[in-house]
Amino acid sequence: MAEKETFEMARKSCFDLKDQAWHDESFAFAERYRNFLNLSKTERECVASFAKMAVEHSFVEYIPDETKAGAPGYLFIGKEKAVALYRPGKVPATKGMNIVIAHIDSPRLDLKVNPLIEETEIAQLKTHYYGGVRKYHWLSRPLAIHGVVVLNDGSTIELRIGSSKEDPVFVISDLEPHLSYKVQNEKKVTEFYPGEKLNLVAGIIPDSDEEAKNRVKLAVLDILHEKYGMTEEDFVSAELEVVPACIARDVGFDRAILGGYGQDDRLCSFTGIRALLEAETLARGGVAFAVDKEEIGSVGATGAQSAFVLNTLAEILTLEGERDELTLRRAAANTNVISADVGAALHPDWQEVQEKNNAARMGYGLALTKFTGVRGKVGASDASAEFMGRIRRLLNEAGVPWHVAELGKVDEGGGGTVARFLAAHGMNVVDAGPPLMGMHSPMELAAKCDIYATYLAYRAFFERFL
Ligand code: MN
Ligand code: MN
Repeated sequence: MAEKETFEMARKSCFDLKDQAWHDESFAFAERYRNFLNLSKTERECVASFAKMAVEHSFVEYIPDETKAGAPGYLFIGKEKAVALYRPGKVPATKGMNIVIAHIDSPRLDLKVNPLIEETEIAQLKTHYYGGVRKYHWLSRPLAIHGVVVLNDGSTIELRIGSSKEDPVFVISDLEPHLSYKVQNEKKVTEFYPGEKLNLVAGIIPDSDEEAKNRVKLAVLDILHEKYGMTEEDFVSAELEVVPACIARDVGFDRAILGGYGQDDRLCSFTGIRALLEAETLARGGVAFAVDKEEIGSVGATGAQSAFVLNTLAEILTLEGERDELTLRRAAANTNVISADVGAALHPDWQEVQEKNNAARMGYGLALTKFTGVRGKVGASDASAEFMGRIRRLLNEAGVPWHVAELGKVDEGGGGTVARFLAAHGMNVVDAGPPLMGMHSPMELAAKCDIYATYLAYRAFFERFL
């Protein structure tokens, strides 16, 4: 019997929409993503990974006033913590480009500038958390330290301790339940573990000099000097990030979910950059940005509010011999942007915080978010009906599974992305990324089919969107 035609919006999961071969591809894609995720736990490590991928695709690093047109693609690095890849398209960049922009910073604990202390003959490293951290996620779990230290002689050393099996790890030891009645149990979740107690256990063997003060701290400094040539003052010129020591794992009997740290928003930066690199031909000049500092407001010289974005577009125009401000502004106003960031998946145990008709659903592919913001869309970027219409048509024509999403119930949920900072340049912008469960936790969950749908969506955008 023929099905009766209805005009209701179809909402089908990738499992009902796509065949086994497609799902096999999604599992294979997830393996490439997993490798990247395990190697890239900081912004700098993401930049290094992306630069390597770009070079493998014959991209050249752009040097102002030196690099000439004619290369397959160009790599722009912003102070080691932001990156942009540009590939020329069928129309000149002066007519406007297609941008996928994601962020590569994730919530974490940064070591303080002067972090090493000793209390009760235990050496500790003090931290200052970064971004929307739930402090209890970081207690009594193996942690690694990744980052760079600039020594007094000007040389830079890279540290990566705790992510390999043979490495030691660091731990913020939670208080045992036997002792926590008074100091923790009655407190609010935001207060029960004060930020100043987020200290890593870093050693207990004392220096052999029984007369010395802070003998354990001195002994740790000896180890740092012996292994890395570091002194205590070198912490001042360092960026050392405390990240989960774990690796990304398959989740569930069917292995259809990937769990790991930093998927917000390394998932979108990886899929955006792979899409740009692997697209057959580009409709317009394509730029994949991976920027820093989104979790703390897109600030600084490497965030989406910085000149890095527009400066990169200006340098791209110089490859076509265009150097004036008006041409840049016009190109920007004719540019289309996918603000590539993860959405909050509907949680089976916390359904009450979402409005189900407008919630991202795990397994339903790309989540398209027309607007962000909080309490009356404050601070939102709001995609126009016209732009939503064109994006929706693109996804339908390309056969990419997608659905719509809003971040939580009205007056309850909300948040922002980099979208509004690009919209401010007159660009058409929409938020689109995969649903994520347990966002900002050390074990964020993403369905492999959603990861793949996101990649296919960004790729269709680069290949087809005019
Ligand atoms: Mn994000
Ligand atoms: Mn986030």
